Amino acid sequence: MANKTVQSVRGFVDLLPEDAWKWQFLEATAREVFQLYGFEEIRTPLLEKTDLFSRSVGEATDIVGKEMYTFTDRSGDSLSLRPEGTAPVVRAYLEHGFAKSHPESSFYYLAPMFRHERPQHGRLRQFHQIGAELFGIPGPEADAEIISLQADLLSRMGLKDFSLAINSLGCRACQPEYHRRLVGFLEPLAPKLCPNCQKRVRGNPLRVLDCKEAECRALLRSQSVPRISDSLCPACSEHFSELQAILKTMGLEFTLDPFLVRGLDYYTRTAFEIYPGKSGSQSRTDAISAGGRYDELISDLGGPALPAVGFALGMERILLQLPEIPPPAKKPAVALLAMGVSARRLVQKLARELRENGFPARADLKGGSFKAQIHRADRAGAGLVLILGEDEIRDQTVMVKDLKKSEQEKIPAKDLVAYLRNKLS
Ligand SMILES: [Zn+2]
Ligand SMILES: [Zn+2]
Repeated sequence: MANKTVQSVRGFVDLLPEDAWKWQFLEATAREVFQLYGFEEIRTPLLEKTDLFSRSVGEATDIVGKEMYTFTDRSGDSLSLRPEGTAPVVRAYLEHGFAKSHPESSFYYLAPMFRHERPQHGRLRQFHQIGAELFGIPGPEADAEIISLQADLLSRMGLKDFSLAINSLGCRACQPEYHRRLVGFLEPLAPKLCPNCQKRVRGNPLRVLDCKEAECRALLRSQSVPRISDSLCPACSEHFSELQAILKTMGLEFTLDPFLVRGLDYYTRTAFEIYPGKSGSQSRTDAISAGGRYDELISDLGGPALPAVGFALGMERILLQLPEIPPPAKKPAVALLAMGVSARRLVQKLARELRENGFPARADLKGGSFKAQIHRADRAGAGLVLILGEDEIRDQTVMVKDLKKSEQEKIPAKDLVAYLRNKLS
């Protein structure tokens, strides 16, 4: 029996050349926009200590409770593949002393994340995010900057219609009171909620508000659920209304969504989500970009009391929403064929010289009949074919064949670069 081939892991997919250039387009667009906003790239490792996420994202969240790839390594340490990008960036910000040297830093990342969720359309276990974190600015100006950045990213990527929803989740001063009111409201309803929400009522009541189960959604919308907006302290309330005023001035449209909470414990005050389509047409599961303010996370992770706000955009999700991205224009490639043994080595040497001069060059590595080599050159999309045989070696020339025009001419080897420059420009 032949050996079975090894398959990729469920929820982890290959990115093939036919799609890779779309990702390059998203990445290049993102880098461009981040540069316009003055954000700098940061790359953190895939693996972190598990503690980092239990102390930040929160023990009671689905992400930490059920979805992380956590294992004990050979030294006995509990490690996790990062399920999100914010906590690692905050760790790096503290570890490298930015909190002291440059508290007002802004970073971006393009990175894979890992969550053991049920794989479905646009949702993988290794997925990719474009994200940014803006540290050290307490005012709503920072929230508006992050929101504006996302809107520009999505427009430049080619997404025509999208809508922004915002909410305020309050701060550590006003959240406990709201939690009490919410738990008091939810407890009598608990038997009618989904099994997950029955557990959430005491542990993580905010998450009941954005449960995806139809029975929970219908039930909560038919009731007069306490709204966080009625419980905000004066400082949170002012922050939220000032943010709205700034967004209006900047021309960024938004809707207020009192059910918008995020699946992570660290958010305070502003939370936002961006959905594809015009406002009103979306369902909550569709968010392609989301984030918020997390003013307590830096101190929760052992740093000074510094505010921050950030977002992450799902690359798989945005790709599902974008119209066809036109493939990049291919540079005309030059193919080199060798006829005869002695020409083979010279052809690879010549290919190197052409590449040094900036011409994409493809030397035929397989050899064989002239017909077979021409066929491969044509299939590779080469416009020009350079042929080196016994005659050309003797005369120090190269035969240049234009496949489209079916013309050919002999060029002195020393003039080849100048000839190609003229021909291919
Ligand atoms: Zn507050
Ligand atoms: Zn539920």
